[in-house]
Amino acid sequence: TNTILLASRPQGKPTEAQFAFETRELPAIKSGEVLLKTRYVSVDPYMRGRMSSAKSYVEPFEVGEPIAGGVVAEVVESQAEQLPVGSIVVGNLPWQEHSVAPANTLQQVPADQAPISYYLGLLGMTGLTAYFGLLDICDPKEGETVVVSGAAGAVGMVVGQLAKIEGARVIGTAGTDEKVAYLKELGFDEAINYKTADVPAALAAAAPNGVDCYFDNVGGPITDAVYDLLNKHARIAICGQISMYNATEVPMGPRPESKLLKTSTKLQGFIVSDYLSRWPEGVKQLGEWYGQGKLQFEETVTDGFDQIPAAFLGLFQGDNTGKAVVKVA
Ligand code: NDP
Repeated sequence: TNTILLASRPQGKPTEAQFAFETRELPAIKSGEVLLKTRYVSVDPYMRGRMSSAKSYVEPFEVGEPIAGGVVAEVVESQAEQLPVGSIVVGNLPWQEHSVAPANTLQQVPADQAPISYYLGLLGMTGLTAYFGLLDICDPKEGETVVVSGAAGAVGMVVGQLAKIEGARVIGTAGTDEKVAYLKELGFDEAINYKTADVPAALAAAAPNGVDCYFDNVGGPITDAVYDLLNKHARIAICGQISMYNATEVPMGPRPESKLLKTSTKLQGFIVSDYLSRWPEGVKQLGEWYGQGKLQFEETVTDGFDQIPAAFLGLFQGDNTGKAVVKVA
């Protein structure tokens, strides 16, 4: 099968040179295993961290070995009763056109409730990140002001809509005027193009009553500006820091601790896997809201196995609106 390997570890911004295509022989499937045909591959910012050797919450990818991540696949051969041929599954699988996996490492998903790629997005890892990070950590109350950075991405677009469901005033930041217009369509009260606006001034104008909740996807100067607007007992969920994933040295910024102190702000980082035991609750609730038309979802679908590296690299230049996925078959 065709596979994509990590060719070398990036210094700074990754490029196509970090990826290598190879054809590999698949093992015959054993009892309890299935042969899978890859349908959709998820490309996610966290994979940048796995390309480095630095210690983190997931093991680094190995140089010369396939890159792996969220994949939706179809069972094409089965030695596992619970997953007959034709089943649609989601799992952590290699960037390959076909793969062999033990059935008990895969999650079967319904093929008829939502587009199957949504199990990588709204009804999968990124939707659950929005759900638990916003509702558990920020816990917005009716009438409060919520800011979300990276608002037009997979996590951010769901965070903003969930905050609206909770009755909050929602402000998003994103990198193009098209994304800003899209956020308004989704029901965001205010949206700011952080590449063209004076961000501190625009945020202050958009949040006349200050900020009660901040869902941080990007870090850096946008986050610095939000910290100047915090209300008493504000809550901050640190979800991602994409503005720094390609940095080669730790950037120096303002020291915000006294602002957090004076406002009694609660700040918490989290990894969606912290909530593994509550995963079914999140999928059920997101699915219900989606079914009722209360939640919309958007994808940027790139076509073709050979385009996976380009789709991944596009995350760092804002190519995607909503969830970035690659349609393989
Ligand atoms: P997105 O769909 O938001 O894609 C990435 C987006 O980030 C781009 O489209 C781009 O949009 C924006 N971006 C890229 N570079 C920068 C920059 N330098 N400054 C500001 N924005 C930038 O990805 P996800 O929704 O999947 O992930 C969002 C964040 O959440 C990431 O930081 C990710 O690592 C994190 N995450 C954390 C999880 C957890 O468990 N804690 C789980 C899943 C995601 P734009 O055009 O607006 O610049």
